[in-house]
Amino acid sequence: MSFAHLGLSEPLVRALESKGYTTPTPIQLQSIPQVLEGRDLLGIAQTGTGKTAAFVLPSIQRLVASDKRVLPTHCRMLVLAPTRELASQIAESAKAYGKNSKLTVATVFGGTSINKNRNDVARGVDILVATPGRLIDLMEQRFVSLAMLEVLVLDEADQMMDLGFIHALRRIVKALPRVRQTLFFSATMPEAIRSLADQFLKDPVTVKV
Ligand code: AMP
Repeated sequence: MSFAHLGLSEPLVRALESKGYTTPTPIQLQSIPQVLEGRDLLGIAQTGTGKTAAFVLPSIQRLVASDKRVLPTHCRMLVLAPTRELASQIAESAKAYGKNSKLTVATVFGGTSINKNRNDVARGVDILVATPGRLIDLMEQRFVSLAMLEVLVLDEADQMMDLGFIHALRRIVKALPRVRQTLFFSATMPEAIRSLADQFLKDPVTVKV
């Protein structure tokens, strides 16, 4: 099974080929067709399984297809990650996979200049990758608006809970449109995470690797 068989477009397949990726991993096989159809997804997967590509690739394809213009300070896709390192890696992947599109990518996380973050998102950005605390700061200062969001991704939800981001997550989700696609990934699925997923997702497909 190739990436093209999963329904990914030619520009994405080319971007994958230039990274040397020709065969989808199990999480990619199971997730990409569902995400392309617009379904919500609950993915139970560890880092190293290829889960970043599993949510980034089909989301890029949907953003390109719907072709909405992003307004100043707005974003179309938000990826929340627990740590700066993970946020940076996701943003790098999004840039690499989206290199044949015109989509813009920005990253915001704590410990860096909030003024630089403000500049990076001022014109609006298609894909914003953020840690929850810094995103809340930017929302409070009206530097970021999530009112036109199309896709939300929560990556490593169990880590986010462990790091005490639960209140931040709830505040962020409250600021989102109800009609959106939500993709929720966690390495483990204890009761607290399952209940959070129940609140954030609508009729999700569950994928476990
Ligand atoms: P992740 O689980 O998203 O952190 O990805 C783990 C690593 O596998 C990253 O270095 C990816 O770039 C790489 N990777 C993702 N998908 C594939 C694939 N289909 N074939 C080979 N490597 C991949």
